[in-house]
Amino acid sequence: MKLLSDFDGVWTDPEPEASAVRRLMVARTSELSGLAASQVDADLRELAGYALARPAEHGWSPGGRISAFADEDPLILGNAAAEVMRRWAGDAAAAPDSAREVAARCRVYCEAILDEGFASIDAYADAVFHAGTSAFRAEHGSALLPGAAEAAERMLALGVDVVVVSNSGEEKILDWFERAGIPARSVHARADDGARCLHVRGSAGKFVLGEGEDSISVAERRILVDRPKYVAAIRAEAPDAVIGDVFSLDLALPHALRSRGERWAPRTLVLAKNSYTPGWSGVERAGGAVDHVVDGLGDLCDLLATL
Ligand SMILES: [Mg+2]
Repeated sequence: MKLLSDFDGVWTDPEPEASAVRRLMVARTSELSGLAASQVDADLRELAGYALARPAEHGWSPGGRISAFADEDPLILGNAAAEVMRRWAGDAAAAPDSAREVAARCRVYCEAILDEGFASIDAYADAVFHAGTSAFRAEHGSALLPGAAEAAERMLALGVDVVVVSNSGEEKILDWFERAGIPARSVHARADDGARCLHVRGSAGKFVLGEGEDSISVAERRILVDRPKYVAAIRAEAPDAVIGDVFSLDLALPHALRSRGERWAPRTLVLAKNSYTPGWSGVERAGGAVDHVVDGLGDLCDLLATL
């Protein structure tokens, strides 16, 4: 039994990391624009609220097209807010009448960001994301969930071959597992030496979209499934089951591959439920694409024992 597991939001709680990124976004944007941090904070909340009220239209759009939606996790919401900032700065009429003053300040923020030398607002949001998560690591060590070590032990005892496939870098994941005493090594250091350990495939680029227009429709949104880097990882691992907390990033492609009848596609798709999980993926199971919803790693182990 091979499980391909996402990392952030399955083995960790992303909320404290997202808070660190939010705080840094407020501080840096205030510093660059010269506007008060309290004003920037209020504006970013308004931008995030706008994206969250229209999640099918806003999200993390690294190449200009939405890869994951604003309502799927708190880190994605930060990128979605930056994307609304860019839109309103370029076209104040895109903002509702009640937010015209916010839109005017978005122009100030964006000009200051670009003057600082960032290639785009998205590049700025990415830079803040990386700096914010690094600051979190430096301060707190790790955001691994309590019970992660026991869960890893149970999975290994069940004989599950766990491959962690994540957009996060391998170094971070291996470091966090090591701090918790969880045996893990890179997939690139996989060896037939009988060692019981988890394997990690980092920087998997699940968010990277290809040129293709292949998509699935779920909850009135169009989810693009031409994801060349993620498909390569799934093909290489040929897992029996996949678990992730963000449907668009983790499960939409495996669902499409399974529907297409690829022989290396997973049989079972599992959503890791969190406090932020939207109803359309958790309760409604993405129109039936999700086979199981688990609430925590203990619940996941119970499920794995039955598969
Ligand atoms: Mg995740």
